[in-house]
Amino acid sequence: MFRKILIANRGEIAVRIMRTAERMGIATVAVYSDADAGAMHVATADEAVHIGPAPAAESYLDGARIIAAAQATGAEAIHPGYGFLSENPDFVEAVEKAGLVFIGPSAKAIRAMGLKDAAKRLMEKAGVPVVPGYHGEAQELVVLATKAREIGYPVLIKARAGGGGKGMRRVDEPEKFAEALAAARREAKASFGDDRVLVEKLIEKPRHIEVQVFGDRHGNVVHLFERDCSAQRRHQKVIEEAPAPGMTAAMRAAMTQAAKKAAQAIGYSGAGTIEFIVDASKGLKPDRFWFMEMNTRLQVEHPVTEMVTGIDLVEWQIRVAAGEALPRAQEEIALSGHAFEARIYAEDPARDFLPATGTLHHLRFPQAVPGATVRVDTGVREGDSITPYYDPMIAKLIVHAEDRGTALSVLATALDQTEIAGSTVNTTFLARLARDPDFAAGKLDTGLIARRQDALTELPQPSARTMAVAALAASGARYRPEAPDPFDAIPAYAHFHPLTHRKTLFSGDRALSHSITGLPDGRFAVRPADGEGEALRLSAEAERSIAAWPGHLTVFDGPHSHTFRLHDPLEEAGGGGLAADSLRAPMPGLVKLVRASVKEKVKKGQPLLVLEAMKMEHTIAAPHDGVIAEIVAEGVQVNDGTVLVRFEEPR
Ligand code: ADP
Repeated sequence: MFRKILIANRGEIAVRIMRTAERMGIATVAVYSDADAGAMHVATADEAVHIGPAPAAESYLDGARIIAAAQATGAEAIHPGYGFLSENPDFVEAVEKAGLVFIGPSAKAIRAMGLKDAAKRLMEKAGVPVVPGYHGEAQELVVLATKAREIGYPVLIKARAGGGGKGMRRVDEPEKFAEALAAARREAKASFGDDRVLVEKLIEKPRHIEVQVFGDRHGNVVHLFERDCSAQRRHQKVIEEAPAPGMTAAMRAAMTQAAKKAAQAIGYSGAGTIEFIVDASKGLKPDRFWFMEMNTRLQVEHPVTEMVTGIDLVEWQIRVAAGEALPRAQEEIALSGHAFEARIYAEDPARDFLPATGTLHHLRFPQAVPGATVRVDTGVREGDSITPYYDPMIAKLIVHAEDRGTALSVLATALDQTEIAGSTVNTTFLARLARDPDFAAGKLDTGLIARRQDALTELPQPSARTMAVAALAASGARYRPEAPDPFDAIPAYAHFHPLTHRKTLFSGDRALSHSITGLPDGRFAVRPADGEGEALRLSAEAERSIAAWPGHLTVFDGPHSHTFRLHDPLEEAGGGGLAADSLRAPMPGLVKLVRASVKEKVKKGQPLLVLEAMKMEHTIAAPHDGVIAEIVAEGVQVNDGTVLVRFEEPR
């Protein structure tokens, strides 16, 4: 067994791999970029090596620096996690050439599955069902259009190098084919530098069901059952589960056998996933699933498989890479209970899931629930930041219980208990999805979220009570049931008459004023200043969970959280929110335009970027002459306080 391994990744997956390594008595080496010097994965590892600046291309994607870090620290093997270099066969070869072990499949297996068209041809040959379509070499419009007609509309054009749903276009009629092809090609070229495509039958209302497989270097291949990942938004997974709802013995046998065949066809070793698309319009039928692609790495959603099988997939990866045989035979792998995983992201569901950034000033994960397992995989702690450089995932919330209904209700409760303030997050959206009647009934397909988008992403309006609680908390008053005298309750105002204090908060573009009066019993009467609404008798702390963070207050109210600003955002915008050597966003918004770049010399007053906030555009100008060290990217959603521009020192 290895004595020391390097983890070529960051965030939750790096931390998760380190946990297993530690349990196995293996020392760990982290790598980190400038943006991650204080990150959790660095603190979790036994050693850490700096590998470059924040942009991934110069750090986490720089294979040579990572290999050098492994050699310098005496690590014997490299675990790539997912993303970054995990499916890069050139990196695998470089690792092996350096005399190190890659914890993952061979370069050859990765290459065989790397391009969708070649992978599909290979799978057809191996007898694995493939979506009817054209996966050939010809790329002329006439050929592809003829093939589309033969396949029958609607069809799907896919980039053969595709990933993340990019370069994919649905076409419903022949007249639209040429235009859709051109668009798919443009996107494929821009994203992957390869504009070749394939055309396949579009399955209406499909389900995405994938099978976890594992191979070793002794020719053994097993499956670890299936996961259903049909809850998707724009082809990206949102909540995953195992087993698949409504799975039958015949369907499972057919799918797992096909998956094993696929892995055997390429002599696969390590953890892999065979993704299938399923036409479930008439239930789960063994002749209605087709191979889509194979992911030759550990998946984000692997924890649901761990929960229902009791197997640590990372431990198996490490053992297999060290040359051991698979720890268990197929008959020794059993399914138990039901598991869900929800992906908690810094993003704004109400703005088409725009990625967000920010500092996690308040971060509380759910408590244990009796009769269920709640697991949180995260790479951040309270006070850490979500930067624009990497995937804005905050955590994966994983639950396991004896049956699907119980597990789903535990998931919804656990999401309600998750409290995050400082960035826009998707927890309310996830909690609503967990309570969606169709989702609860197991009636899912990849279009479910899009059909329900408005209801799932609608912004909750704070209730009169929530606003009153926020005003009371912001006033600094403390609930003191034991207080003998109401004048003690608001010491700061006790000498004013009458004993009424006024507090104004801002929610979106609304200003909310309340008058607050101490009552003889230690509570407060909180009355909206516009006279409407009744006075509420409140005790702030006793009522709800509240997080105060710079310039803000967030009230957590079951599945909803409401953030209020303490100061007028539009007044502050003029001030520019200048801090030592950086410019911070004066309000949450969208970076519409960036007009300066790193290393550029700028003059005082020169416009640097345009921030769109509260339906208005705000130009952020340089507060002084200087040289730009860092600047946010265009299209990024920022929170107030987010650093937009950093200047080089000395000025
Ligand atoms: P990518 O590699 O870009 O993620 P995939 O081939 O894995 O692309 O497909 C991603 C998603 O697109 C699937 O999970 C499914 O929702 C949808 N999809 C793929 N192929 C089809 C198809 N033939 N018909 C309908 N939907 C499809």
